[in-house]
Amino acid sequence: MDLGIRGRRALVAAASKGLGRGCAEALAAAGVDLVINARGAEALARTAAEIRAAHGVNVTEVAADITSEAGRAAVLAAAGAVDILVTNAGGPPPGHWSDWGRDDFIRALDANMLTPIALMQAVLPGMIARRWGRIVNITSQSVKAPIATLGLSNAARTGLTGFVAGTARQVAPDGVTINNLLPGIHDTDRATSLDSGVATSDGIPLEEARARRAATIPVRRYGTAEEFGATCAFLCSVHAGFIVGQNLLLDGGAMNATL
Ligand code: NAP
Repeated sequence: MDLGIRGRRALVAAASKGLGRGCAEALAAAGVDLVINARGAEALARTAAEIRAAHGVNVTEVAADITSEAGRAAVLAAAGAVDILVTNAGGPPPGHWSDWGRDDFIRALDANMLTPIALMQAVLPGMIARRWGRIVNITSQSVKAPIATLGLSNAARTGLTGFVAGTARQVAPDGVTINNLLPGIHDTDRATSLDSGVATSDGIPLEEARARRAATIPVRRYGTAEEFGATCAFLCSVHAGFIVGQNLLLDGGAMNATL
């Protein structure tokens, strides 16, 4: 399917690895020029070079912490006028409700709520003026099915979800769509790090922790960054103009709820 976005320009945050990279790759495959970001310059440069070589699109890379004001300013300055924005950042650490103080909540809110909101606020005026835009926020299954040990993530991402629910309706008349993609378990470094925590706390090998978790998913495997990216690129396509303010769960059927 031709996604109809060849020649468009996208900013994909936190995209040297994992789900962000999956989105960047799929947009590049559709002919979209990219500005990609991550903190680690080396992995980011490698990813940018691989995407350029594979898809022949322009890729600008900006090594910066997207959760800091200075980092966002650098990324947005390099990005200029973008047609597509994919927001993303690392997830907060797991823990117990009694572990977290005000500073932990502020860090989580900064990374997973206020950063995507700031990025949206920065690019929306241009998209509205040009009467076309696509925004996809990478959030989490924890928005629909909160995970007890991810209390910081649950709190920050539901806040973002509330903001998007209203804003998506405010900008829809101007040709701009905003939707959220909610990853269930995907095979990335983040999943390995969470599995390693379980392996250590339960005294089992990493492979066993992973197999146990895969067994809880109806498709009996983790999702891939490629599948995730393809869904993101579709939401950014010309065909998705009637999809507004949705929270799309990509979880292999893990959450058993009809509504
Ligand atoms: P990942 O494989 O660890 O990749 C994270 C990417 O983001 C890397 O490129 C990393 O590069 C970059 N990054 C992290 N913090 C950043 C920051 N402050 N500024 C700029 N770039 C940053 O993670 P993932 O699995 O793709 O997860 C992406 C998001 O989805 C996370 O918020 C995660 O919590 C959420 N999620 C993932 C899953 C899953 O199963 N994978 C499930 C639910 C939710 P640097 O480290 O070099 O900056």
